[in-house]
Amino acid sequence: MTDAQTRERGELALERARNGERLTAGEIVALYAVPAEEVIPIANAARLRKTDPEYATFSMGGNIDYTSICNVACKFCTFYRTPRQEGAYALTPEQVIEQLEPQVRLGVTEVMIQGGVNPELPYEWYIETLRLVKQTYPDLFVDFLSPEEIRGLEKLTGRDAKDILAELQANGMDGMPGASAEILVDEVRQKVAPARISSDDWFRIVDNVLDLGIHIHWTGLVFGLGETIEQRVEHLVRLRDAQDRDLERGGRGLGAYKVWPMRLNDTRLNGVIEIDDDQTIIDKYLQQVAIHRLALDNIDHHRCVWRTMGYGTAAKALRAGADDLCGTGAINAVTSVLETAGKEAPRPSEKVFHGVLKCIADAGFKPAERDPFYNVTRVHSLDDVDFESQGHDYVAGFQATADV
Ligand code: SF4
Repeated sequence: MTDAQTRERGELALERARNGERLTAGEIVALYAVPAEEVIPIANAARLRKTDPEYATFSMGGNIDYTSICNVACKFCTFYRTPRQEGAYALTPEQVIEQLEPQVRLGVTEVMIQGGVNPELPYEWYIETLRLVKQTYPDLFVDFLSPEEIRGLEKLTGRDAKDILAELQANGMDGMPGASAEILVDEVRQKVAPARISSDDWFRIVDNVLDLGIHIHWTGLVFGLGETIEQRVEHLVRLRDAQDRDLERGGRGLGAYKVWPMRLNDTRLNGVIEIDDDQTIIDKYLQQVAIHRLALDNIDHHRCVWRTMGYGTAAKALRAGADDLCGTGAINAVTSVLETAGKEAPRPSEKVFHGVLKCIADAGFKPAERDPFYNVTRVHSLDDVDFESQGHDYVAGFQATADV
């Protein structure tokens, strides 16, 4: 196919997206041949049709990374430690509560408790932790573990995921982040994380979670792992199929989707996979936000990230298909990795809070807080926004685990 034919195919796909029609895998691939500035307004229009055009949302979510010990050893991860390595830790259930306390005081209403796959933690640790969290903070919405950790519990206990998940749910698990996805194509996973959960196991566990009515608040895609555009699209179409399956059986479906770039500078993949310069990463990020909005026509909410991309890029993403700003949480792996790299980590403070309000206002929306189901719970007046404040900027050279 010539360049002109490829471009024409992309323009036809964009026209179909403009009309709200579902795109085939080939059409989604074709969109990559269209300049991003043509795709972005169509994606923004789709976002304005699907979600409230007046608001962009955010939530005050906390994070607890309960252990840094992990036996999966993904090559892109700078968070995990082996048991005797400096920085290796595992929190007790009581320490989880200690870390939660200041976050709850800051006003978080949901928390994501997630960590490495630590074979030294017994199954009882998970039950005990859930019980203690719910006993101490009964109103807190608890997002617990990820498909990778559930797979780890299958190996630890010899039980199947659905059985384990039902027990965790009975003890206080409200939701599970759709993390450990990165790119759900085994050929890529084998190269960057050979021991990572397989894509089939990921979808099997996610299907089980949704079938039990456990909320999956978000899932996503991480780009920049040496994947092709076709492999990115394969991931998107499999997610869209999973969403169709759950909606058809009357489920709530995946709550939201987000895409973000992998940074490989300080990882074992530096020198193995080509690393883009910062401006290219930003441009590609906005292109993915727009195309993925159009590809995933059955996931209403699309999130964008400010903590690593900066408020300026996040505000643009809110005009490129995203409707929710994530990263307004507390202590998490992003923060710890930023600090390890000697970079300033934005803290959950008034300054951060106002930065988020300003970012949303700069994008032309009213900032609204939401619950884990993306229902608006509080709308902020633009009078609350300090338009003079300095925003947190793009963090050059940043890298993190895949799950944040
Ligand atoms: S990304 Fe998650 S599973 Fe992979 S090594 Fe890091 S902590 Fe372990």
